[in-house]
Amino acid sequence: MIEDIWQGGKVLPLVEDFYTIQGEGFHTGWAAYFIRLGGCDVGCRWCDAKMTWNVKAHPPVPISEIVARAASYPARSIVITGGEPLLYPLAPLTGELHARGLEIFLETSGSHPFSGTFDWVCLSPKKQMPPLDEAFARADELKVIVEGAADIDWAMACAERVGKECLLFLQPEWSRREEAMPLIVEHILKHPRWRASLQTHKYMHIP
Ligand code: SF4
Repeated sequence: MIEDIWQGGKVLPLVEDFYTIQGEGFHTGWAAYFIRLGGCDVGCRWCDAKMTWNVKAHPPVPISEIVARAASYPARSIVITGGEPLLYPLAPLTGELHARGLEIFLETSGSHPFSGTFDWVCLSPKKQMPPLDEAFARADELKVIVEGAADIDWAMACAERVGKECLLFLQPEWSRREEAMPLIVEHILKHPRWRASLQTHKYMHIP
């Protein structure tokens, strides 16, 4: 946790929340309400959410406001993303969302301890700040971003640590997709437990 100004999770540093279509990973193509929290200490060079990094730019918002907005949309699925959402105590937020009958999907690097309860955990591990053991154990979906061949090796090492039921995805880093895609295709054809994930929201021109 960055600071205890979050009142045990009753307020959180909201960057944005919006209704859209999930563009990547297992739930690609499904409508979902996204809750994006600020703050991240992982520092990926290619991060497409750098505006989240400075948590001070995202003042605390009561979770009651966030939940009321999320519940007002037709989709029953909520994606909690960031930044790195596990920097904060998430039990109050996930408790209120579940009380509204919503299902909750988490997107995380797994580099901080878990809090809250989730219906689906998408673990996107980063070499420079690897996931904690519990993150591998809790992953329903492993989504590794690929820039080059070393990332395929990293993906294989991470796959050794997740559960047998965990789904495995390789996703090209957007700015290197032309170079990364052939590596991904070659790997999946050799190891068909893996699947390709594309950032389809960028093709659909939606957030
Ligand atoms: S972990 Fe996610 S939010 Fe944090 S720097 Fe990496 S891509 Fe960006």
